[in-house]
Amino acid sequence: MKEIIFANNPLDRMSSIRGDQEWQRQSKLAGNSIFLVFKAGKPLIKVSSDTSIKSQIRYFSSDQVKSHLDSQLVIFLGQYSDQNYFAINLENDLSPDLYKNDSKFIDLRSIAQNLSAEDTGILAQAKSIIDWNLNHKYCSKCSSSKLEIKDTGYKKYCLECKTEFFPRVDPVVIMLPTFEGKCLLGRQKIFPPRMYSALAGFLEPGETIEDAVIREVKEESGLDVTNVQYKFTQPWPFPYQLMIGCFAEAKSDILNIDKDEIEDAIWLTKEDLNRIFVGKHPNRIWVPPAMAVAHQLIVSWMHT
Ligand SMILES: [Zn+2]
Repeated sequence: MKEIIFANNPLDRMSSIRGDQEWQRQSKLAGNSIFLVFKAGKPLIKVSSDTSIKSQIRYFSSDQVKSHLDSQLVIFLGQYSDQNYFAINLENDLSPDLYKNDSKFIDLRSIAQNLSAEDTGILAQAKSIIDWNLNHKYCSKCSSSKLEIKDTGYKKYCLECKTEFFPRVDPVVIMLPTFEGKCLLGRQKIFPPRMYSALAGFLEPGETIEDAVIREVKEESGLDVTNVQYKFTQPWPFPYQLMIGCFAEAKSDILNIDKDEIEDAIWLTKEDLNRIFVGKHPNRIWVPPAMAVAHQLIVSWMHT
């Protein structure tokens, strides 16, 4: 499962040095620091026109982006091979001469499958932390707008009521109920026609992963499940979710679908799924692409 998109961030986050302001100031100017940039939620990507070659994150040296280093959001991502990695959320565009010939700002969802697993991991970290900062402009305790950014964007501090805030991650359980050689997929009304995916839902406060899987499956399909098995997780940076992939054993295959939650659900054998993957299912059913954890769960179950 090493190839799960967004899940292979190679950086050592060095979280203990984020709060050191003198280190921050010096490292932003250091020759071994490199900078990726985001503008309006999109990363700058060096696009490969040859489809056999992966596109890449476009990095800049400290000198190239020096006029942007005073920006509110220059996030320290971590270290790798003696280099410091930073992400800048651009408030003003870069000089076009720096990148227009080889790179462009692209929606991460649309380019992720053309990047290396490591690059998607780095971008997931950068995008989620930038989005959290942009989405949290007021203190949720006293409503003050006087929030100070600390630790290069990993903390906010309310200057009025002294409360500290940390980046949030929203956990989502996503699961495949199974019964006697079949697994269950469902479709929501908003899905493209004939696409089916794994059932999913947000974990609620005070709930274990197992509880959330049991509850969500029951709510959506009417099935009682047991023996919840954690498989793997995937950071999903839209804006800051964590997908928690699980299997669960259903006690029967009798469905009672809640039409407010899902439009339809279907039991599929491995043979059915093989047909789906080669585009030959008689009802032209298809499943999400490889970047989705649902896809990885299905593939993982097919190998059981
Ligand atoms: Zn406050």
